[in-house]
Amino acid sequence: MPGFELFGKAEKKEVQDVLNSGILMRYGFDSMRQGHWKAKELEKEIESKFNVQYAQLVSSGTSAVSLALASAGIGAGDEVIMPCFTFVASFEAIIMLGAIPVIVDIDDTLTLDILSVQNAITPKTKAIMPVHMCGSMADLDPLIKICSAHNLILIEDACQAIGGSYNGKALGTLGDLGCFSFDFVKTVTCGEGGVVITNNNDLYTNADLFSDHGHNHLGTDRGAETHPYLGYNFRISELNAAVGLAQFRRLDDFISIQKKHYTIIRKELENLDGLTFRSVPKGGVESYAFLNFFLNDLETARKVNSAFKANGIDVCFHYYDNNWHYVRKWEHLKNQKSLFPFSKELKKGLSYLKKKSFDKSDHFIGRNISCLIKLSWTEPEVMKRARIMASIIRSITS
Ligand SMILES: *Cc1c(COP(=O)(O)O)cnc(C)c1O
Repeated sequence: MPGFELFGKAEKKEVQDVLNSGILMRYGFDSMRQGHWKAKELEKEIESKFNVQYAQLVSSGTSAVSLALASAGIGAGDEVIMPCFTFVASFEAIIMLGAIPVIVDIDDTLTLDILSVQNAITPKTKAIMPVHMCGSMADLDPLIKICSAHNLILIEDACQAIGGSYNGKALGTLGDLGCFSFDFVKTVTCGEGGVVITNNNDLYTNADLFSDHGHNHLGTDRGAETHPYLGYNFRISELNAAVGLAQFRRLDDFISIQKKHYTIIRKELENLDGLTFRSVPKGGVESYAFLNFFLNDLETARKVNSAFKANGIDVCFHYYDNNWHYVRKWEHLKNQKSLFPFSKELKKGLSYLKKKSFDKSDHFIGRNISCLIKLSWTEPEVMKRARIMASIIRSITS
């Protein structure tokens, strides 16, 4: 991560095709587009690579999550269980539909804690949304069981773990719906973009229609299409899809580079006292987009994080003190700072956040350092980096 580091010839070629035809829109203009359907082609390639029946490209990962929820009929007053460690997009996408994010603890996988999920289920719960943070995944088997026992929808936010798998299946394909982001800093980028994938024909049809104002995409006269229900505009442009098409074809390369760099650093840190790695659920294979480890306590993690920064070790994050990814800093959500009035249900539904503490998650996030794995590093650079990291940690923990 991120794919933009290796932007090159292939991406330029795909974009040039679109510029040559001048058709920047993914639908219609059949006779003018010189045979180029970049968004459609990328959807086909995603379906075949991940062995999933349907892919619906959209304008962002955030819109992918909203679209997945809307396609499953989730809206006003419905509760969606999600983790307290994730990008803010997770609750934004839920709130956008008037649904209520029910935020629960994570465990040493850095993803949903199964017991906390079980305890959060109420008669209003409609969906569980694990977020496969930082290149690894939630333990999906127990979540699949909970969802089928309680008749809930399982939506995987796999935005940060594209290329990872669980029990031999691509992440994003184990739930009812899966979401990826192709924003500028993700492993595969479109510049801006995202996708919803599913094996369910009804959910896909809903996603196809809803993402384009309810257009049913039948026939060749866009203006004459019927609109069975209200929709929205979550469309991706052909230019963005063209970049993503070239990038997505390089996914295996990107993952193998990430794995190589990850492994070099992991080996160097493996035998350090007072350091353990995040746990990966049985049957899971990481995407290697990040290397995550725990130190003994919050103070040590803070010291290591500062020493990393002071010594040129960039792209490592101590999320406990970070504004974006952990509930501790989500003051705007806790205080319901919204530009527009919330519904009564949503106001009431979010009020638990004023008091709820996340001790279990603090215990993990407070001690966690998360290091992004770059694609553009050279091997000697990674080795040097790994040695510096190890020596910093040794000097602080001994
Ligand atoms: C990046 C990201 C998103 C949102 O994707 P955008 O394309 O930036 O809207 C959602 N969830 C997670 C976990 C992400 O990392």
